[in-house]
Amino acid sequence: MSARSGPVLRRSPVLALPRLHQLVLPTPWEVGPVQIYAVEGDPLTLIDTGVMTPPSWAALGAGLEAIGASPGEVKRVVLTHYHTDHMGQVQSLRDAGADLELAVHEDDADAVEGYTPARDERIDTTNALFREHGVPDALLARQGERLRRMVADEPPLACATRVDRRLRDGDRVSFKDFELEVIHGAGHTAGHLLLHEEASGALLTGDHLMGHSVPFTESYYLEGAPDPADPLARRPRFRGLPAYLRSLRRLRGGSFRTILPAHGGIVARPARAIDEALLFYEVRVQRVERAARKLAAARGAATAWEIWQAVFPKADPLTQMRTRMLMVIGALDVLEEAGVFEMRRREDEVLEARPQSSASSR
Ligand SMILES: [Zn+2]
Repeated sequence: MSARSGPVLRRSPVLALPRLHQLVLPTPWEVGPVQIYAVEGDPLTLIDTGVMTPPSWAALGAGLEAIGASPGEVKRVVLTHYHTDHMGQVQSLRDAGADLELAVHEDDADAVEGYTPARDERIDTTNALFREHGVPDALLARQGERLRRMVADEPPLACATRVDRRLRDGDRVSFKDFELEVIHGAGHTAGHLLLHEEASGALLTGDHLMGHSVPFTESYYLEGAPDPADPLARRPRFRGLPAYLRSLRRLRGGSFRTILPAHGGIVARPARAIDEALLFYEVRVQRVERAARKLAAARGAATAWEIWQAVFPKADPLTQMRTRMLMVIGALDVLEEAGVFEMRRREDEVLEARPQSSASSR
């Protein structure tokens, strides 16, 4: 384990919840470790589990040992969402003898039960989405090849496992002396959830709100035929950025005192963290709107790919296109929902955004 991985266990970060501890587990990524949470006692419960790697497994074992427990004794796992640094070691726990109940939001449950590294990357469906938004075929082919090679070469960081309880907004996860309320916070994934302990004001946020960064939001096609109500006959799609902003605005009204995130320590000022995440995306939505208006002034409309090139002139299309392109598409989703832009389909099937004459987002 690297020197910067720090202590494995942070005991009782919320004084009013003495049995809840933070475990810091290494990941292979530059973003650093993932923070999971353990509630000792019966049922011994984990919130998230870390990636499936030997150093992460060793750190989980050491963290549990420090609170007098072992992996085989875990009775329940709640996942904030399906990403590998959260679901990674659920099956490892089961393989180590844990007879555990796995609880996941219903909208992420299939991704947990059907997990494969290739499915997680959504290469073909994301490329179809990008093609529909104007990204050239040759670039998509090169990028698809690069991602497929990555998936084939790198050891998987999670493996599929059974979900026993499908959670929804408002559900409760009960312990002897307190309860966690499930808050559905879609955006980073469709089924991302937060857990709220009312008496202490503690909010476990996963990647929805973090100590030092703002999450990317997903956007991908859902199963099913094109929406008959959509004049552009677009396939149904999970639109992460509008969902994320709606969720943040809803959280704004809450009386939270401490955020326990999956990355970036512990956040002592929840209201500020919520406002900062909102501002982060509001600024980017405005940047996309400005670029799109400029392009549209020249020729009436702009594709997401043209906007991408205008907003990120220095980004490398091969390695830096995906997350930024999802952001541009997400921003157009926000602007379309607000009536600022209208989408239309060109003859070559590519979608482009055209400013609505009178509307403005400000
Ligand atoms: Zn995540």
